[in-house]
Amino acid sequence: MDRIFGIDLGTTNSVIAYTDPTAATEVIAGQDGNRIVPSVVYFGKDGSQLVGMSARQRAIIEPERVAMLFKRGMGEKSFLDNEAPFVVDGKTWSPEELSASVLKKLALMAQERFGEPVRKVVITVPAYFGDNERAATKSAGEIAGLEVVHIVNEPTAAAIAHGLDNASAGRILVFDLGGGTFDVTVMEVASDGSMKVLATGGDRRLGGMDFDNLILAKMIATARQGGLDVETEPWARQDAYGKAEALKKELSTLETASTSLTGSGRPLPFELTRAQFEKLIRDKVTATEDTTLYTLELAGLQPSDIGTVLMVGGSSRIPAFQKMLERVCGRPPLFSRNLDEDVARGAAMLAAKEGQDLDPRTALARMPKPVDVCSHGLGITALNDEMELRNFIMINAQTPVPVDDVADTFNTVDEGQNEVEIKLNEGDEEDLEFVKQLGKSTGSFGRGVPKGYPIKVTMSYDRAGMIEVNAYDGQTGTHMCKLKVPRPGNLSKAQVANAAALYRNTKVS
Ligand code: AMP
Repeated sequence: MDRIFGIDLGTTNSVIAYTDPTAATEVIAGQDGNRIVPSVVYFGKDGSQLVGMSARQRAIIEPERVAMLFKRGMGEKSFLDNEAPFVVDGKTWSPEELSASVLKKLALMAQERFGEPVRKVVITVPAYFGDNERAATKSAGEIAGLEVVHIVNEPTAAAIAHGLDNASAGRILVFDLGGGTFDVTVMEVASDGSMKVLATGGDRRLGGMDFDNLILAKMIATARQGGLDVETEPWARQDAYGKAEALKKELSTLETASTSLTGSGRPLPFELTRAQFEKLIRDKVTATEDTTLYTLELAGLQPSDIGTVLMVGGSSRIPAFQKMLERVCGRPPLFSRNLDEDVARGAAMLAAKEGQDLDPRTALARMPKPVDVCSHGLGITALNDEMELRNFIMINAQTPVPVDDVADTFNTVDEGQNEVEIKLNEGDEEDLEFVKQLGKSTGSFGRGVPKGYPIKVTMSYDRAGMIEVNAYDGQTGTHMCKLKVPRPGNLSKAQVANAAALYRNTKVS
């Protein structure tokens, strides 16, 4: 039996974990003892790749050979702020390929730990990821030579790592503040333990790095007053940035932290109090509060409707965010010591449920699997009563997958019409401007039919993401046309296969 591993493929950091048949979970460390791997890739001149902390350190000296934050572009061509492609030595690297490098590194760590190659994984994604980004994440796994058994929502994995199952049925708010992104998800746990996402919100450009930069700006200003320039060389700035992050982390437990800045050949002490830091990040705390309240509003809930508030992501250790959430929700948030490992732990637990070795006597084995849902609505283009073309939703967003043969009846508009065109759309709006057409097909009645003649349309959506639409003559029941559309990823099958072949021969360490 292949072991199935759980992976948190994060924007700033990634983690791999394994849950054994007794339901015990281990977060796997690399040879350096670190369990948290920065999602950073360095391209060596010899074609090899370095992933993790060593790659992050290379960013100081050779920033043009280092890729980071590529998860922000998952499913798109570029992840850089200026939309330019990321090119090294003449080759463009897609977010999927860069993510594959991180996955390969994590798989290597697990291989070293267990002495056998990793083949199967469960990977987590943010709840707001659409089908395109989910498909892209799957492609990343395939490029790395892995079978992605399942894609799971990060807040669901975090909730499972905290044991929030049917015993804690009710509404959960998951506040996830990482290094580069902020997500808030409101979920409902049913009495059978199944979890449903009610609303998601967040900011893909807010996280720990912003706080580091705010400290850095203060450091630079203070140094300047002391006659010291810490920006003479790029490395000096990077060095100060590292110190800013270290200070920030210390201030999560200490009231005062200090360091020594270097530049112009001499040191200068720099001290920061927690109160000063909280003043620096006040706007950011307010922004997360506004987003939290807005997401609750989207879910149609009041803060008092939330039974459990759960914090994940490394930056949730900052007391200012904990205080804010407690004030807003009226109860202290739950969080673990290993905030940054929770998502991977939950992914591993869900991975264990996908395998067949889990001891049936464990609580984990008895816990129902979370349901997959359709992230966006699926509909058909048709005329409304005002004779305007609209998207008629047949499968609503958040409907549990698989969906079998939802049926609806439409009518012809022209006298003597002998054909109909079925257009399938993805999106939650009626207005066609805001939806994406996924495919179309034409069916014939084989004769002219009167105006208002019925056409029966059925739609199904399976767990592999395949949508099937069928149209039937509404009176005779004769089949008219079929449309089968896989939810699209960015890369074609051939591109994934080519990239996978390249990756087989790439040395990643
Ligand atoms: P994640 O993306 O969840 O791995 O979170 C990484 C972010 O958490 C980075 O910006 C870290 O600087 C930040 N972080 C880690 N530990 C702490 C801490 N003790 N206090 C404040 N921020 C932290």
